[in-house]
Amino acid sequence: MLVDYHVHAVAHGEYSYSQEWVNEFLDRAFHRGIQELGFSEHEEYSDLVDMNIFKKLQINRRNNIDIKLGLEVDYIPGQEEKIREIIFSNEYDYIIGSVHYIDGWGFDHPDHRAGFNDRDIDEVYAQYANILMKMVQSDCFDVVGHIDLVKIWGHRPRKRTSLYYLEPVLKAIKKYGLAVEINSAGLRKTVEEIYPASNLVNMMYSYSIPITFGSDAHHPDQMGEGLEEAYRSARQAGYRYLVRFDQHEKLVTPIEY
Ligand SMILES: [Zn+2]
Ligand SMILES: [Zn+2]
Repeated sequence: MLVDYHVHAVAHGEYSYSQEWVNEFLDRAFHRGIQELGFSEHEEYSDLVDMNIFKKLQINRRNNIDIKLGLEVDYIPGQEEKIREIIFSNEYDYIIGSVHYIDGWGFDHPDHRAGFNDRDIDEVYAQYANILMKMVQSDCFDVVGHIDLVKIWGHRPRKRTSLYYLEPVLKAIKKYGLAVEINSAGLRKTVEEIYPASNLVNMMYSYSIPITFGSDAHHPDQMGEGLEEAYRSARQAGYRYLVRFDQHEKLVTPIEY
């Protein structure tokens, strides 16, 4: 089975959640052989989702595609209580936890990219990994989003490897029972590499960490884009199964592509 569990139909609020618009995502998914699509809006735009349209689609199954209700939530240390409220505010199938901010610095945003210039890159990786660790231990999330996003603009640690910073996080992910997504959006960014890098995927496999897949599409044109490579990366590491979610419950499913 092929799935895309990281899709933003309303992007950053610039598109409205109409039947026609959502159908465009489902038609593109169909052409890419995706059998299950999880819409996972950014939490700050989740009010734009028309649940009547969503529920109708879930029953009518356009192109025979199953749809799931996900959500991508920014993890900010100290906001766990607020995050829990958000998570229980709707019947989500799964919640993706993502770190987009280091002490208020939106490092993945093009406008704030220059912030890398006046920071020690190893310190940035260490801080990023530290926030990820807190996110995993908060026990709020089902899936870790784009786990090595900090590499987005191509900056690599100098004193240690990425693995050095992220292996303790993987151990915690295993302990807390989260899944990690293989996210193809990195292919569209400066780094031109899937999140996570293949050596991390190999390590995830050695820890038996479950995986899911996402294109992080913000437009129908990006729907499922790069997922072939994401599936290949998982298969090369040894993965034969992915997990889907139903009301936060993991469903283990063979990868078929
Ligand atoms: Zn994200
Ligand atoms: Zn996203």
